[in-house]
Amino acid sequence: MSYAACVGLLPMRHKPVTKVRDSQDAACLFCGAAGPFNTIEHIVPASLGNTCDVLTGVVCDACQAYFGSKVEKAALEKTPIGFWRCLLGIRGRTGRLPSVFLDPPSGGVLPSDAAITTPGVVFSAHEDGSTSLDVYNDATMHGILDGRISQVRLCLSPLHLSVMGRFLGKMGLEYLARDNRAAAYASQHDLMRRFVRYGSARELWPVYWGHTAAGYCHRRIILVEPLVELHEVDCYSFCLGKTRRGHFVFAFSMGTDIWLVDLSSPVPSPCLQHAVEGTALACIAYSDWAFGSPSSSP
Ligand SMILES: [Zn+2]
Repeated sequence: MSYAACVGLLPMRHKPVTKVRDSQDAACLFCGAAGPFNTIEHIVPASLGNTCDVLTGVVCDACQAYFGSKVEKAALEKTPIGFWRCLLGIRGRTGRLPSVFLDPPSGGVLPSDAAITTPGVVFSAHEDGSTSLDVYNDATMHGILDGRISQVRLCLSPLHLSVMGRFLGKMGLEYLARDNRAAAYASQHDLMRRFVRYGSARELWPVYWGHTAAGYCHRRIILVEPLVELHEVDCYSFCLGKTRRGHFVFAFSMGTDIWLVDLSSPVPSPCLQHAVEGTALACIAYSDWAFGSPSSSP
């Protein structure tokens, strides 16, 4: 993956293996609380296989706990990242294979024109490398049996589209902090900082999405008699870039999906649709979305 259109790029970052020990008096990157902190923050969640890319002393305990329970958990279980975890058989931190229930998620009200998530569908990864799709909804099962349902849909609720933006923004700011501390703490990232830490279903940060041109799909290698335990972390890739306007952008890819956010601005920009070479991106949006609708709930 590389950036073409808007770009004067930082070097591509793909699974680097560096640790940063930060000064002990740094303020929290997200809430501004005064340090020192003793946290070891995994930039990409450890449950996606990241054991190397960490920040120490940059994120306060409260923010770290919040991200784990309110942002990363939802991103890993209720967004397309959850689907890819199952399809690719990525074990969690405890070694368990994932199983995700992609039911219509709560949080916010879906606009009237939105596609509806196929109800009652559970994806599960298994020890033999397979992935099963189990159906716990009569209407869905009948639809599959009589041919009316030929594909499973996942429609992000406002809450989980917001979570995607916050998840990508968190990783992006943390990678930026690792590579360019001053840029990560600069005021141009205050909006993203606040959104990542305090955002809700009432707020969306533009998330751009596209398919990788190569149709990449990474599968686990299954050996009948393995000599050593399989250690696999190459299930995602990411890239930090800088546009000609001076905005920092972060792209993250799993399976055939690529997502991208502008860390420096919540204003959609047409040029970002061409920010990834060889892949057209589209800004994920609801056409009749109304912020702060009285009927919506965070
Ligand atoms: Zn904090």
